[in-house]
Amino acid sequence: MKISKYIKNYIGGALVPADSGEYLDNISPFNGEVYSHIPDSDITDVQKAVEAAERAFPEWSSCGIEKRFRILNRLADIIEQNLDTFAHAESMDSGKPITMSKSVDIPRAHANIRFFATASMHYAAESHHMEKSAINYTMRQPIGVVGCISPWNLPLYLFTWKIAPALASGNCVIAKPSEITPMTAFLLAQACEEAGLPAGVLNIVHGLGTKAGQAIVEHIKIKAISFTGGTSTGRSIARIAAPMFKKLSLELGGKNPNIIFADCDFDKMIFDTLRSSFSNNGQICLCGSRIYVQRPIYEKFKEEFVKRTQFLKVGDPFSPITDLGALVSQQHIEKVMSYIELAKVEGGTVLCGGNIVEVTDEKLKGGYYLRPTIIEGLPPYCRTNMEEIFGPVVTITPFDTEEEALQYANSVDYGLSSTIWTQDITKAHRLAEQIQAGIVWVNCWLVRDLRTPFGGVKHSGVGREGGWEALRFFTEAKNVCVKY
Ligand code: NDP
Repeated sequence: MKISKYIKNYIGGALVPADSGEYLDNISPFNGEVYSHIPDSDITDVQKAVEAAERAFPEWSSCGIEKRFRILNRLADIIEQNLDTFAHAESMDSGKPITMSKSVDIPRAHANIRFFATASMHYAAESHHMEKSAINYTMRQPIGVVGCISPWNLPLYLFTWKIAPALASGNCVIAKPSEITPMTAFLLAQACEEAGLPAGVLNIVHGLGTKAGQAIVEHIKIKAISFTGGTSTGRSIARIAAPMFKKLSLELGGKNPNIIFADCDFDKMIFDTLRSSFSNNGQICLCGSRIYVQRPIYEKFKEEFVKRTQFLKVGDPFSPITDLGALVSQQHIEKVMSYIELAKVEGGTVLCGGNIVEVTDEKLKGGYYLRPTIIEGLPPYCRTNMEEIFGPVVTITPFDTEEEALQYANSVDYGLSSTIWTQDITKAHRLAEQIQAGIVWVNCWLVRDLRTPFGGVKHSGVGREGGWEALRFFTEAKNVCVKY
């Protein structure tokens, strides 16, 4: 398994260039240089992938759960055995610290595959008995050929989060990673060959979202789309896929509140708030970017939070002491900087950060490094507090009452996740019930149990991933009614 300067598509079990022979540059955010090239795929490549998937489907969908379980577990083992190669590729593509790639992204990728391979072995359909009359039983059958499209922030982690339940349920998959972070998907294709995944069961098509991605969404033979990415992309996918009656799972953006009450365990809260604000440079859909702090501890929080943020080390993703690596692209760092400027116009005060890092290390020159940024003094309903920035930028705002905090929390179009810090369990439950979000963390952040439903409300998405939800999404329910 190796990184290559020329990434290939994985279609019908073979590593192949795009039919057009065209390539796109793959730039590393580490230094802003082109370090590899990816196939600029289009409808022709998607068509070939669909044909391969259709050929593979009859055998894969009927070979039995155990066979799929064994192959998928082998795949998970291969990823685990090649941790260093995968982790290096992930950090090179995304700019995230190698420590994070090694401890979070890649371990989670093989955990996803093992989890869904195992879950499908335990998955049972329901039956409904009508007394003295009939018995209904529900078959859960694979859909056929399905599409999985994932973003750049947690590349292999989210790619496998979709592919694994799709494959474990007996579907054949056409998958597209983000064009910005393609390398670990290319390594995954090589691992699939080694694991003995039959040709055409998984097809990976690289390229632009608006070209290769859209061709997947538009293809008539692809019957379900599982998408994770931005809300506006999700909207355009829904516009195309809904009238075609495709099954749709949309995991979209977030602008998550972090509500900190004066009665919280301060030390635990401050430790986790630093993580929930700046992990992966704030480029996690679950990061808490709106921090609301109850007034009695606001000044204490502000002082401690700013102090700890200023200690964070920004720089070389491959150094073991780096906390924040590079942002993912030039375009993205410009977007984040534009929000910092907007925040100032909206009346915000930058307490720390707000600037691009002038790197002294020659090998990092040209990379996209930004100091983690804390802003205060903004009105709760300004654009900075309502729109997703998706960078190392948070706002802090004081509040007085529980009602006020709830109103702020629910005031945005998004509803992905939320965090509540309090020692009052009654208050925590009360708020958890009323917060408009798919996920509520109480006195913690990013504690993930893969069995739980995952997803958002409002503009943060449609549908749920995780556990049985994912297996339900990737299967069609058929009721069989037997009269006796
Ligand atoms: P995008 O929406 O830009 O892209 C996501 C994926 O969709 C990429 O593979 C992209 O390809 C592809 N794509 C882009 N346009 C189309 C199209 N018209 N048709 C089909 N596919 C398309 O998101 P980002 O990659 O910028 O990711 C960041 C966003 O993802 C943030 O908003 C974040 O909140 C969200 N996100 C949500 C999560 C959740 O679980 N709710 C988890 C993680 C991130 P390409 O990159 O090649 O353009």
